[in-house]
Amino acid sequence: MNPSSRSLLENTFKKYYFDNFDLLHVPSNPHEREFAYKKFDSKLYRHISLKSDKELHLLLMTQTPSDIYCSNARYSFPTLSMNEKDWKDADLIFDIDSKDLQLPCRNFHTCIQCLDCNSFSTLCSRCPNCNSNHFKTITLLCKHCINAAKDETKKLCVLLIDNLGIKKQNIFVYFSGNDGFHIHVIDSQYQNLGSRERADIVDYIMLHNMLPNTINKNRLKFKNSKYNQIHNSIIGDKDSTKNISTIKTNAVTKNISTIKTNAVTKNTRYIIKSIIDPNVTIDVHRIFRLAGSINSKSGMSKVRCKNLELFDPFNDACFMDEDPIKIRANCPIKFILKGKKFGPFKNEYVTIPKYAAIYMICKGLAEI
Ligand SMILES: [Zn+2]
Ligand SMILES: [Zn+2]
Repeated sequence: MNPSSRSLLENTFKKYYFDNFDLLHVPSNPHEREFAYKKFDSKLYRHISLKSDKELHLLLMTQTPSDIYCSNARYSFPTLSMNEKDWKDADLIFDIDSKDLQLPCRNFHTCIQCLDCNSFSTLCSRCPNCNSNHFKTITLLCKHCINAAKDETKKLCVLLIDNLGIKKQNIFVYFSGNDGFHIHVIDSQYQNLGSRERADIVDYIMLHNMLPNTINKNRLKFKNSKYNQIHNSIIGDKDSTKNISTIKTNAVTKNISTIKTNAVTKNTRYIIKSIIDPNVTIDVHRIFRLAGSINSKSGMSKVRCKNLELFDPFNDACFMDEDPIKIRANCPIKFILKGKKFGPFKNEYVTIPKYAAIYMICKGLAEI
């Protein structure tokens, strides 16, 4: 990114934070959380303590971060190094990313940037300009992919509520700001679980280690007693040294032989699974993107989806203004933002609304 593009992003992000303080809050127990942020040179600053919204807003104004994060964990000493922090517990978090869903349409909204000759083109196995196979891929937001990610999010919520006994009011769904959804679960019976137990929850949600031939359409049986392992890891078996025996969940007291959901049609029983990023959920020290903040991979915001069905990231997560800006764009695929079509642009100067310019600059497809 050239210096002019970088300074445009810094000024635009700063203005966004100034205008939208009401969207940015520290989570509960802020004094026990680790905060972190990145600057536009990609340098990460972490082990930071912010005790109030006021301190958060001050940091946003003085440091102009490109990205800001907060730990899902609570610590006695959040500003000390990792092994001195004294971990207390961590919110259960999930990341659903469109790229993991591998929809066929993805090929049509992904382009390549050749790392040898720096030319851009639609997706292909070699650079059409210099025949190099040394390139990076850049994917733009797609309605179909977002709808598929929404479906995974809905299934996850059904599993969390019906099978893991989590209260609906403790589940918060956010658009990630780029290409998927983040699900935060607060105050649940799973706060104290370590990584290993969280890995069991991941397996349960993704139906890992369960071969199709062990699953009867109407009655889900776990022949390999995987379920019993999950049961024990969550409830605590007699050998468990961890103090998790007090954790109670409806999920495990339910007869797992019939995992069903009322969320779909009444007369059909579904075996549901959801495609989540396992690494995020098993990480009990994650620094997770702060709600309300801008994702510098796109210039769009991580925003709460109060109504997932109606949520439209192309409008609802795009907060930049429409002031016209002249950029040099190199975007071989077209995209839609705020109901307007843009591109394809072939290494040309164009004057377009700021929100589209910011999006392309963040994607690495344009410069001032
Ligand atoms: Zn090339
Ligand atoms: Zn797609």
